[in-house]
Amino acid sequence: MITHTGKINSIQSLGALDGPGIRFVVFTQGCNLKCGCCHNPDTWSAQGGMPYTATEIVEKATHYREYFGKDGGVTISGGEPLLQAEFAREVFMLCHENGINTCLDTSGSILNDAVKALLDVTDRVLLDIKYTKNELYRKHVDCDISKILEFLDYLNEKGIPTTMRQVIIPTLNDTEENIIALKKIVTEHPCIDKVELLPFKKMCQVKYDKLGIPFPFADIPEPTAQSMQNLEKLLSEA
Ligand code: SF4
Repeated sequence: MITHTGKINSIQSLGALDGPGIRFVVFTQGCNLKCGCCHNPDTWSAQGGMPYTATEIVEKATHYREYFGKDGGVTISGGEPLLQAEFAREVFMLCHENGINTCLDTSGSILNDAVKALLDVTDRVLLDIKYTKNELYRKHVDCDISKILEFLDYLNEKGIPTTMRQVIIPTLNDTEENIIALKKIVTEHPCIDKVELLPFKKMCQVKYDKLGIPFPFADIPEPTAQSMQNLEKLLSEA
């Protein structure tokens, strides 16, 4: 069997935010998108990152398996893990051999044979859908929403449990219209069994400063707790 080496930005041994339960989270290096709201601009460049083989990653993860419980496991996030689909597939195959649950955190903008093979060994996808309008995708992500919907259609066809996540960004998607559009997407894709709205945060400003890159959304405020509550309520209403 070919052993793949991945380019890794960082590893979080015990994460509680990226998938069910307690998880060993691997952040891959390199991203094909440029989201204005990105919290991890340090993952964008395909250069750099630390080399790890899939075996090394899973060996490390197994040290934490007692914390995983019945829901936790390994999450591969990024950056964009679909850019290193063969490596991610090997990590997930080894996880399964060791009885460890697998979760993929992605923006869903790439669907090729390597990605499909990766999805065959993925127990859950966290799909970050940035907006529900193509004009916003074009302007603030540099990608067409049709690519993400095509990816989601594939998840649905394969019946892969999916958590849909969206960062709520005031003035861009903090609207009733957006929530209605999200609900329509959920209804059309029964593979989505959970939706998470996450508030836009500006803590990452320091990362942009350090990299000497302007933070595109520096002038956009964080959403208020009240506005998040209102949107959550709208989302939960039938
Ligand atoms: S897909 Fe993720 S890592 Fe890539 S730019 Fe967007 S938010 Fe950042």
